[in-house]
Amino acid sequence: MKADTQDTLASVTELAGVGPARARLLALLGVRTVGDLLLLSPLRLESTGCRATCAEAADRVGAVAQVTARVARTRFFRRGGRQSVFTAYLEDESGAIEAHWFNQSWLRESVMEDAQITVAGRVGLTKKGRPTLVVPRIGTEEKPLPAPDGWEPVYPTVDGIGQGLLRGLCRQALDLADELDERVSAEMRTRLGLPTLAEAARVLHEPRDPQEFAAARRRVAFEDCLAMQARLQRRAATSEGGDALEVETSDAQHAALLGLLPFTLTGDQARVVEEVRCDLARRRPMRRLLQGDVGTGKTAVAFYACVAAARGGGQAVLAAPTELLAEQHHAVLAPLFEAAGIKSGLLTGSTPARERSRVLKGLATGELEVALGTHALLSNKVRCERLAIAVIDEQHRFGVAQRTRLLEKGRDVHVLLTTATPIPRTLALSIYGDLAVSVLKERPPGRGKVTTRWLKKSDGERLHGFLSERLEAGEQVFWVAPRIAAGSEERGAIEAHARLCESALAHHGVLLVHGALDAGLRQERLAAFRSGEARILVATTVIEVGVDVPQATVLVVEGAEHLGLAQLHQLRGRVGRGSADSWCLLFGKASASERFELLEHTDDGFEIAEEDLKRRGMGELDGLRQSGGGLDPEEDLDLLLAARDAIASDPALAEAYLGALELEGGELSP
Ligand code: ADP
Ligand code: MG
Repeated sequence: MKADTQDTLASVTELAGVGPARARLLALLGVRTVGDLLLLSPLRLESTGCRATCAEAADRVGAVAQVTARVARTRFFRRGGRQSVFTAYLEDESGAIEAHWFNQSWLRESVMEDAQITVAGRVGLTKKGRPTLVVPRIGTEEKPLPAPDGWEPVYPTVDGIGQGLLRGLCRQALDLADELDERVSAEMRTRLGLPTLAEAARVLHEPRDPQEFAAARRRVAFEDCLAMQARLQRRAATSEGGDALEVETSDAQHAALLGLLPFTLTGDQARVVEEVRCDLARRRPMRRLLQGDVGTGKTAVAFYACVAAARGGGQAVLAAPTELLAEQHHAVLAPLFEAAGIKSGLLTGSTPARERSRVLKGLATGELEVALGTHALLSNKVRCERLAIAVIDEQHRFGVAQRTRLLEKGRDVHVLLTTATPIPRTLALSIYGDLAVSVLKERPPGRGKVTTRWLKKSDGERLHGFLSERLEAGEQVFWVAPRIAAGSEERGAIEAHARLCESALAHHGVLLVHGALDAGLRQERLAAFRSGEARILVATTVIEVGVDVPQATVLVVEGAEHLGLAQLHQLRGRVGRGSADSWCLLFGKASASERFELLEHTDDGFEIAEEDLKRRGMGELDGLRQSGGGLDPEEDLDLLLAARDAIASDPALAEAYLGALELEGGELSP
């Protein structure tokens, strides 16, 4: 049975004032039907202001006020071009206040001296410090101001669909609110403290108080959670039936695969590899996140997963977020694959045409068993004959849609994600249904310790002496500048390279790599640095992730205040990869001293990631908040969990939401 869906509500063109042109614009907001409009979550609420006299308003800078007063005089001032300022001086018995509008020259004809007007706006201060109503709305007979002491919704808008129009349309749609299909039981609504959809719509579009509004927003977010879970669980259920490649690896084969690696696994690595081995042996596709700080050896696990799948008759892709990292994976792993008799190839944006077509053909015919690469692997041109596993290295550097796209290159693809940044549980739940997590804590044995220091400009001289010592001892140096060329504030990598080339250190060999460099040249220079032919590498943050040169013991970062905590920690991971002690030396402004001090004090990536999360907020990390739906990964965890359980235990409910998705004419992007 297919339940009714919200889409049975009429198209937005049924509303007064919406023709095909506006319908197209509304579609940009994801609004196609009246139902969509009813469930459009405002971004926030705005106060309609309190009624105030001129004197009271002047006294409440920062607040929103509604003032009825006489226009004592007006002034129009052209700033040049189409820029202008219109000022009205308002008066009542209590006193006076100004009001300002910008670039609205027509107001000269509608706000006349001596008239009585009502305006509503935020009270600000002029440059001279006088209180003023900043671009207030003017009430008219046809369009009166909203009642004072209330709230108004503020919607996301697009060009051509303004705030006022949207407010009007949403209110108009409310007539149909009772036709919204309520699928959530009263019992569950009570448990989660949620209103019905119809109540939620009324509160969203005609809000009376912020608390009620918050509950209504959650009700709509819950709809999104349910739809998402319905889709995820269907995906998982169809795979239960068994389309993932079952990779059985015998103990002898297992040992042989590990024997390909140039080192013995750490205890943590061995445990995780065992987990991956078990996952791969099932028909149900693996969904595993490998969390491990920089340098804990995640690549070895990724390698194992790829080789095991290839040996088991499937194809594997390993995607990395930067070309540099993909190239390095290729340089390190290709010989290991070859030793195992497995054919591998590299595909990035810089892969030459002939090689590209060889890799594409190899993947499509099944001849190529493993492809390493970047986002280029996500292209529609990439088709795999029998993709069995996708490994996404440094998964947080890929977008949500990208991660999903890779999975769609095969049926029931096993997935291994690696990250040095813990992934919020909500995110895992909402993208993958759920995710098993493996953690690598232990670092490979025999590593030197890494000391981090925040240096002063005046330490520059001494630094050169220190670098000279390290270089004489046969060690190598990374020198990082945030930008390619110098800006007005900071120095660039090109200048740093030039300076080092003229310094007493030049004879150690100084090379430069950055993102704008030709790929061939970049690979050549990185290879020269890796081999020790050149022993100083000047770079932008292109080397942030992955680059692995164990002889490098010193990392110098200039302009470190331009880089975030997590980024600096990742960069620091470039050193401390050999047995010698290493140094991470930061030059940066005191404005970022807190960050530098934290780095001096800890090298625990999880602690740093947590701090980073606190500072930057969750939204930037996962793109979930921006993706709309008003879902807040921190506040709405209970909704995600409840949706997961509800869909799992109620097939009819799942069916209803899947029906709605199908009617939408496609997959809901997670
Ligand atoms: P990350 O977790 O940051 O991706 P990598 O996989 O790049 O770390 O490993 C970092 C370095 O440690 C590499 O040079 C790798 O060869 C080395 N390594 C990894 N595992 C071990 C191990 N068990 N014993 C010795 N060295 C190891
Ligand atoms: Mg890595």
